[in-house]
Amino acid sequence: MAQRQPRTPAVGDDPREPTTDVSPPDGKVRFRHLDEAVIEADRCVQCGACVAACPSDSIGIADSDRRPTLVKMCTGCSRCWDTCPRAGLRYERLPTLEGADPEDVTEGIGHVEDAYAASAAEDVPDAQHGGVVTALLAALLEAPGSIDAAVVADEAADGTGLATPKLATTPAEVRAGAGTLFTQPLQLAELGDLIADADLPADPDLALVGTPCVIEGVTALDRSPYRESRFDEPRPLDHVDLTVALTCTQALDDEGLEHVLAREYDLDPADVTGLDLVGQGIRIDLANGGEERAPLSDFEGAILEGCLECADATGQTADITVGTVGSRQGESTLLVRTDRGRTAFDRAEPTLDARPLADLTPVEQLAEWNADRAREAMAREYDPEGDLWIPYAEHREAYDGTDRAPVAFNPARVHQYEEWC
Ligand SMILES: Cc1cc2nc3c(=O)[nH]c(=O)nc-3n(C[C@H](O)[C@H](O)[C@H](O)COP(=O)(O)OP(=O)(O)OC[C@H]3O[C@@H](n4cnc5c(N)ncnc54)[C@H](O)[C@@H]3O)c2cc1C
Ligand code: SF4
Ligand code: SF4
Repeated sequence: MAQRQPRTPAVGDDPREPTTDVSPPDGKVRFRHLDEAVIEADRCVQCGACVAACPSDSIGIADSDRRPTLVKMCTGCSRCWDTCPRAGLRYERLPTLEGADPEDVTEGIGHVEDAYAASAAEDVPDAQHGGVVTALLAALLEAPGSIDAAVVADEAADGTGLATPKLATTPAEVRAGAGTLFTQPLQLAELGDLIADADLPADPDLALVGTPCVIEGVTALDRSPYRESRFDEPRPLDHVDLTVALTCTQALDDEGLEHVLAREYDLDPADVTGLDLVGQGIRIDLANGGEERAPLSDFEGAILEGCLECADATGQTADITVGTVGSRQGESTLLVRTDRGRTAFDRAEPTLDARPLADLTPVEQLAEWNADRAREAMAREYDPEGDLWIPYAEHREAYDGTDRAPVAFNPARVHQYEEWC
């Protein structure tokens, strides 16, 4: 895949010319504008939705920083802009389109049909908490007429410890992916290749696990008015029949995490088998069987900046949400939100020890804290009743002059933009 310029060049090695110019679109919104407003501005949350949205497959993922980059000609169709939750997608509008009360969306956790505290009936080695996601997906893979595969995450085989997407077609493969990885696997960007490389039926049904921003991308594309007119053949996301959101308040930047582990703990990513939020701190599980306890503050520098603008901690547009908060040790909190979620839960219930959860106060408190943080960080207005799409000019008006303003490219160094965008 193509290499892109580093986002944060070392001091004294800045490839950019000192310019404040960010060229306005010539009537079209191109990938270049998304790149300047989100990726170069260090606001990308690596959801991969822009890659999945591009009808001409012009966007790929750069090896250098695992951010989207142009790999061929951009037609200026604006799909990537409209699908990015840090650019043209007013992500907080998605749940209200599905009928959720704007008040719930702003202060709470969106629409919930049923809530459970649950754990896998059979032990799931390496599960993050209750092993509920693993048990649910394994049961669905075994249920006739349910799913053909599940998109989960695993550690990359290259020893970096970074999350990478994986298509599991058997319960054993799902179990091998148990546990949480705090970097983004970019599954929406890789979905087409994953499906092509797997031995699946012609029109497979998939479950997809992801952070709330990833699920927003799936929902936004499902909602897209361009969908019918632009895609003559099924796109990879058309195969997603069930979405499972992992409750999330922040994901970690690949490089940032590596720096924190090396600087604070003298650890290589390969020395670490897992991380978990424990109370006010983080537990680092070590490959040698030991563990380190770290204050949350040590990891602050590794948090993706764009996550601070996210007010969707509980994945309000998913069919099912699973998180830790709100349940006892060894359990996960499972929220059923849709009919599809209800059908999936009913099928998997025999493999779970699940009890109804009446008190969702801790989940609501987490969501409210997260939404407050987002409203403070965002330069635009947070508006669950606004238009779903935010025009480029409106974004510029809100973000220009702030510390989250678009960052211009140096076209002399990034020649692909002269040719392709
Ligand atoms: C970045 C991040 C931040 C989180 N922060 C919180 C939080 O603040 N509060 C909270 O309550 N819960 C949080 N969670 C969710 C929590 O860590 C557990 O994933 C969740 O409770 C499910 O646990 P489990 O034992 O039921 O899942 P398991 O049975 O262990 O299964 C987890 C599944 O998720 C997949 N997976 C792991 N990492 C990723 C990833 N990065 N992207 C997509 N799929 C993945 C695995 O492959 C596996 O299929 C976070 C998760 C992530 C990824
Ligand atoms: S936040 Fe998501 S949609 Fe936006 S640029 Fe990054 S990967 Fe693409
Ligand atoms: S905090 Fe929000 S934007 Fe960041 S990874 Fe989690 S869901 Fe995505």
